[in-house]
Formats: sequence, C-alpha cells, structure tokens
Amino acid sequence: MRALRLRPSSALAIYAHPDDADVAAGGLMAQWASEGIDVHLIVICDGAKGSHSPHLEASVIRETRKEELESAAHVLGARTVTSLDWPDGTVTNSLELRERLVGLVRSFKPEVVLGPDPTATFFGEVYVNHRDHRETGWALLDAVAPAAAMPLYFPDQGPPHQVSVLLLSGTHEPDVVADVSKTIDTKVKAILAHASQLAGDAEAIRDVVYERAEQAGRPVGVAFGESFRCVELAF
Ligand SMILES: [Zn+2]
Repeated sequence: MRALRLRPSSALAIYAHPDDADVAAGGLMAQWASEGIDVHLIVICDGAKGSHSPHLEASVIRETRKEELESAAHVLGARTVTSLDWPDGTVTNSLELRERLVGLVRSFKPEVVLGPDPTATFFGEVYVNHRDHRETGWALLDAVAPAAAMPLYFPDQGPPHQVSVLLLSGTHEPDVVADVSKTIDTKVKAILAHASQLAGDAEAIRDVVYERAEQAGRPVGVAFGESFRCVELAF
C-alpha cells in the first residue's frame, strides 16, 4: 500500500447511482476540486428505484434524487455533473453504454478516471455488490482501455483521448490511499445531501464515514483516507 501522490490536470468520476461517488471517492474529489483541478461527475442511473418503501412513486424518487445529486456535486466542488438517466437495475456493459462513455471521456479529456472496481462481488458475508456497480465498472474499463484512445473505436464520438490513470473504488485489491484528512467533513456533507437514502441520523452517518476513512488511512499513516486500485495505463 502506498500513499497516492497525484495532482492530475483533470479527473472524471463515473458511477452508477446518484450517491455512489460521494461514498467511494468524495474526499479525493473534493480535495482535487479545492486545489483548482477540474473534477467532473457522470452518474449513469436515475436512482428511481432507490427506496424500500412500497408507497413511493418512482417519478418522485427520481426528482428527489436529481436534486440531491446536484446539491452533493456542488458540495464536492464538481465542475459538471452529467446524468445519463438509465433506469436503476438496467445497466449492462453494452455497446450503447460504452459508446456514450467513450464520447464523454473524449469530450472531458480527463487525466484520471475514477469508478467502481467491477471484480468485487462479495463484501464479507453481508453484502453483494450491486449489479449496476459491477456493470458500470466493466463498461468504464472497456471504454477507457482501450476504446477511447483508439480512433477506429466509435469514430463518431470525437478525437481519441488516452486516460493516464484509473482509480477503482470498492475494491478488494487496493494499492493506493488518498489522504482526505482535509476534506473528510466535505465528504460527510455530500453524503448527507442524499437525504432520501440515509438510514440513521447525521451523527451516526458521520461516525461510520469517519471510521471507514480512519481504517483506510491507517496503512499510510494519514488520519483519514480513501483507498483505490490504481492502474497506470501504458501507452
Ligand atoms: Zn450504488
């Protein structure tokens, strides 16, 4: 495990649901944004199935989550947020999604892409990684390496762009830790912006975020960290 020392020219986070980026990488995104680095966010799903209540209409949830996403992205300091409005639960690593992602990568031209590690399926004995997370991870890997960098893939989607570094969150094989000690409270605030998704009060959620970040930071000696699998793409 090593400390992540990277100050990219720009970063693009690609996540499945409106609250995924904040939980996975909100501290690092906020840190980079605070340093003047352009951080962009793409959310694939509309979030409309994000409720256990049988009494809520999907259209109401969709609107609520859109507003929450805007607030959270503002808290993080993201320069843009793009919703692709795929219905929750329908993400597949399809040609259609890869083409959209290639077009977006080529237009934002990020040095770094952040997103979910698709190889992580089980977390302990209590959680199965959401299918949308896994499919988003596969689609972004295929879109970035190699499609976006090669002109004959999706030639209608703009000139090729080579992403230099992939940072994959929610991974079982982390090898870098970003120091998010300065932005941990911004991360908490961004997570709290997704009020419709929260079970528990703000204090309890802050405690969980703190605890996980303390654990992640420990191997590299920082107070709060976020860990990633880092892939430095050779080209
Ligand atoms: Zn999610």
